[in-house]
Amino acid sequence: MGEFDHRRVWGPKPNYPHVKAWTRASGGVLWLYTPLIVLAGPCSVEDGMDLEFIAGMLKRSGATKARGGLYRAGTYPGPNFGYKQVLAGKWSRACKKVGLGIVVEVLDIRLLDRVDEVADSFQVGARHMQDYALLKELSRSRKTVFLKRNPGSTLDEFLGAAEYLARGSCRPVLIERGSATRMNHVRWDLSISLIAAVKRMTGIPILVDASHGTGRRDLVRPMTMAGIAAGADGFLVEVHPRPERSLSDADQAYPLNSLAMLVNDANSVREAVT
Ligand code: PEP
Ligand code: MN
Repeated sequence: MGEFDHRRVWGPKPNYPHVKAWTRASGGVLWLYTPLIVLAGPCSVEDGMDLEFIAGMLKRSGATKARGGLYRAGTYPGPNFGYKQVLAGKWSRACKKVGLGIVVEVLDIRLLDRVDEVADSFQVGARHMQDYALLKELSRSRKTVFLKRNPGSTLDEFLGAAEYLARGSCRPVLIERGSATRMNHVRWDLSISLIAAVKRMTGIPILVDASHGTGRRDLVRPMTMAGIAAGADGFLVEVHPRPERSLSDADQAYPLNSLAMLVNDANSVREAVT
């Protein structure tokens, strides 16, 4: 059959040359200082949270960057949705004080400039993975862009989206956050094999997100370790000072005071597999 790819009769052949050519060396400083990339913080930055306390805990626990939802959007529409600009300023200042940059999801391309003012790095959420206008715009930045896999997308589609970023001047980092699934023991099903497969195809770092990838607090630790064992370069974890009181994604919120141990253990697994 020669060049013909029998697995793909219809549609374009997967093509992501920049992703394949990407090497760790082009990852730059991220690699010099960080054994594992750790994005940690609450699902949503909530009004009334002690932001300075949380930022201090994140830093002491070994987080590389602080994450936190600043744009309230929901699977179902409701009141109080939108970008929380005042809170964004407070959160970014609290984190900056302890030496942590913040990762902010760009949910609305029209707000990119405002997010750029406070964010150290951008996040493309799972639902925006194939928002090509957004990807092109972000690719022009010099910041790190964390790209989450859409719950329904294949490895090729994921890397195709990453190609838009890899063509530009930004530093892409991939995040595996689980697929839609018929399994009913989890909310989304983390693909550990995808992490291992990506590691064989590109030097672009990939992180494991066992918070969204399971939706279950009790599975966050084992599945984070599994992701690191498969070669992930770090992890994303949603933490909360009082997990059961988290205003969003409470079922998967990991206790903030257990983060230091999680980071420590993940680094031990990393050492064991490298
Ligand atoms: C998040 O990490 O804040 C988030 C909303 O996750 P996802 O886009 O993977 O659902
Ligand atoms: Mn969340």
